[in-house]
Amino acid sequence: MTTNRRSLLTMGGVLSLGLTQPARAQSADRRLGYAIVGLGQYADVILPRFADCRHSRVTALVSGSMDKARQYGARYGVPEGGLYTYETFDTIRNNPDVDIVYVILPNGMHHEYTVRAAAAGKHVMCEKPMANTAAEAEQMIAACRAAGSKLMIGYRCRFEPSNREAIRVARSAELGPTRIITAEHGFNIGDPTQWRLNRALAGGGSLMDIGIYSLQAARYLTGEEPVSVSAVESTDRSDIRFREVEDTINFQLSFPSGVIADCVSTYGSHHNRYRIVGTQGWLDAESATAYEGNRLRLHRDGRTIDHPAPDAGQNQFSAMLDHLSQCVMTDSEPLVAGEEGLRDMRIIEAIYLAARERRTVML
Ligand code: NDP
Repeated sequence: MTTNRRSLLTMGGVLSLGLTQPARAQSADRRLGYAIVGLGQYADVILPRFADCRHSRVTALVSGSMDKARQYGARYGVPEGGLYTYETFDTIRNNPDVDIVYVILPNGMHHEYTVRAAAAGKHVMCEKPMANTAAEAEQMIAACRAAGSKLMIGYRCRFEPSNREAIRVARSAELGPTRIITAEHGFNIGDPTQWRLNRALAGGGSLMDIGIYSLQAARYLTGEEPVSVSAVESTDRSDIRFREVEDTINFQLSFPSGVIADCVSTYGSHHNRYRIVGTQGWLDAESATAYEGNRLRLHRDGRTIDHPAPDAGQNQFSAMLDHLSQCVMTDSEPLVAGEEGLRDMRIIEAIYLAARERRTVML
């Protein structure tokens, strides 16, 4: 092998030569500042995870209530100057401690706050689903591109060890070629007044919120894009919870390799699992996409055994936050950029169309 300067750089040999050591040392130590927008349930899951980050810290909080922002600020070490309301949000452009805005608002607000964050010169992490519609998702991508901002969607499972291992197994020859994927996600939704049941704020029902995990799993396990989709919806419109959005919507995706994915999405019962069935066995994940405790079992040669994932050394949340920070520092594209969220939004719209018109929709 010829050893030129480029190969030394990629081999890490440059460190001993001291050619770029200061820049590397600086980025290895650097922690980019995140502003968390919307202090709800999921922000409560994310905020403590900054403690495990190597490249990320929380430097600002945005809330409808300054009192709430102050309480959170005291808990997470954010000073008064880093606290904003939705009205003062745009002045975040003047805060040099904020590099990335993390939008953890109801789905119907993702578009507005992503566009405003990009206009304020910040990079953006946006929660799933990316937006209420594919058209909004396209505008978010365009706004971030125009501003030179990175845009990443909070698809945490791509950073979770069990899911990473399931992807590896599904795409290897270990179980033979994959034939069938089944993926089920759902929970029994409560309070009928919550935003998840309001069409303007949620964009749709279970599919937008929890069924999207079944869709994501089918796509990341195969590494392919579906070519067609069919779907069946079942919603009791007399149930006060489902006046505006769907309850259950099951869908089937066909992939170019011939894999078929059967997916469940529901607000009526608890599901969190997927199974990859190959010609030589299967891999089962349950819980599959939970915050913690995901578990894999593998069946081959007539035996079913636990299949632990290799330790990744970092939890899925901190790994996700650090990934975007590193993408910003190295000017590289996130694993789950805005385009990935847009692909899901386009398929979600096709699923709704297929259910509505009771036909197979070609993608
Ligand atoms: P919550 O209702 O718990 O929190 C949303 C927060 O948004 C509120 O607490 C409030 O914060 C703010 N908000 C501003 N305007 C409104 C409004 N009109 N109605 C309600 N809230 C408002 O929701 P979640 O935290 O569960 O969900 C937020 C986002 O995160 C969603 O897009 C959801 O899909 C996503 N999510 C992702 C998960 C994942 O695992 N990736 C898990 C759970 C949610 P404040 O009082 O500070 O203004």
